[in-house]
Amino acid sequence: MFTLQAITHPLAISTMSIRQVCSQNCLSRSSSSVNYLKSMPRRADQSRRFFASKTTPSGRPQLVILGTGWGSYSVLKNINKKVVDVIVISPRNHFLFTPLLCSTTVGTLEFRSIIEPVRNTGFRNPEHFHHAEAVGLNIEKQVITCRSSLKNHKVYDVPYDKLVIGVGAVSNTFNVPGVKEHAFFLKEVSDARGIRNRILSNFELALQPGTSLSEKKRLLHIVIVGGGPTGVEFGAELYDFVKQDVSRLYREEQLLVRVSLIEGRKILSAFNQKLQQYAEKKIKARGQMELIQSNVIDVKSDSVTLQDGSVFPCGLVVWSTGLAPRPFVESIDFPKTPAGQILTDGNLRVKGEPSGNVFAIGDCADIEGEGLPCSAQVAERQGRYLAECLSKDNHSQPFKYQSMGMLAYVGDYKAVSDTPALKTQGFNSWILWRSAYLTRLGSWRLRMQVPLDWTKTMLFGRDTSQF
Ligand code: FAD
Ligand code: MG
Repeated sequence: MFTLQAITHPLAISTMSIRQVCSQNCLSRSSSSVNYLKSMPRRADQSRRFFASKTTPSGRPQLVILGTGWGSYSVLKNINKKVVDVIVISPRNHFLFTPLLCSTTVGTLEFRSIIEPVRNTGFRNPEHFHHAEAVGLNIEKQVITCRSSLKNHKVYDVPYDKLVIGVGAVSNTFNVPGVKEHAFFLKEVSDARGIRNRILSNFELALQPGTSLSEKKRLLHIVIVGGGPTGVEFGAELYDFVKQDVSRLYREEQLLVRVSLIEGRKILSAFNQKLQQYAEKKIKARGQMELIQSNVIDVKSDSVTLQDGSVFPCGLVVWSTGLAPRPFVESIDFPKTPAGQILTDGNLRVKGEPSGNVFAIGDCADIEGEGLPCSAQVAERQGRYLAECLSKDNHSQPFKYQSMGMLAYVGDYKAVSDTPALKTQGFNSWILWRSAYLTRLGSWRLRMQVPLDWTKTMLFGRDTSQF
């Protein structure tokens, strides 16, 4: 039990490519010695007296959190709401449990089983959640400019005393032509839903009268670009879907299905070499699955082109090759890492921001000199650390990170686990993978829902309805 807790505590499968980009690109200067710490009393119950807000009638400092992802949601859940007024601004009104997102692309899990409405966390005032995105930051006036996610022309300012930027990142297209237009990313529930609908449409289209054999083959060829954990886990889910459900529902088409996983280097390259080779061997052994070591240089609506010029007709392209900064992060004028992340000091304070009241966490930021991986594990723990510092108004201890390990599902009830204590593969690892995610799901509602979905899938197969 102890071991499992220790392993499962923070999840660690990161989008590998950016992890590497980050660690390769991180600045090598030593950590900042700038200390913004002001001499403030440390007891939480005193914080109101020494830090009266300019912005709230309550006099409590107004903490504005941007985003509802791993980092920001963790701040929101852990902050002591008695000492600050918490305002959340996010274009997404739910928290998404990304480690299980791949399972929703084929219906192993349902979309609503891995998201948590953010209003369930209990705001002091319903107006404290803004379904909007940050589009500008004025550090002199201490205001965030937002644009409503529901009415595009509605732009307004929200003042802050303290600000946490946790807006995450976007998928990196590496400027490959056609990716934005024709490929699917796999970052949000809407992406997973798009992929699921496309897969089902393609199976139905392949069955319709008059579809030529070559067209059937194209429709049923799925290309995954990027061999990090997301690409591999999506491939694994596809494999299970074909083996368990396509074989039952689309018997003839089953033989025409082909999955190509394209990666320029090694798949799961952040994992221990033995585990990485195990995953590679498993994938290569699957008749209808192919590992291709190459780079994609062009994506069209019905094909991808590789760097050697070969063209692969296909019916779906899923692009998961790494991360790039969001336009909001690009627009703010702070020191950045070469990968475009906001640089912070060891206390997660944004470098070059004179007041010391602006913090950045998760995928959108990196600590100077550290090159932390872009993972839920890092973001969640940074959020918890920051919530504690802000609740106590004590920023004396820097954030410390030690990885608890990585897990990845490879399909057919097998996974790989790479943790400091244990490196395992196969069925036992799969049990660990499932238990790990189950224990980390943010609420009892989800902890009930996810095993129900798993059981339903096992007993009745995946739901192939389209809507
Ligand atoms: P996010 O979780 O991406 O959240 C960003 C938030 O900011 C979102 O709510 C977004 O709507 C909001 N936002 C965006 N723009 C704005 C704006 N302008 N203003 C305000 N809000 C904004 N990591 C692991 O450790 N283990 C795993 O198993 C794992 N599996 C993964 C599987 C998949 C399919 C994916 C995509 C990622 C996975 N990751 C995993 C990586 C992990 O999800 C990310 O590293 C993590 O989400 C980063 O957290 P974050 O808070 O920085 O950003
Ligand atoms: Mg093969």
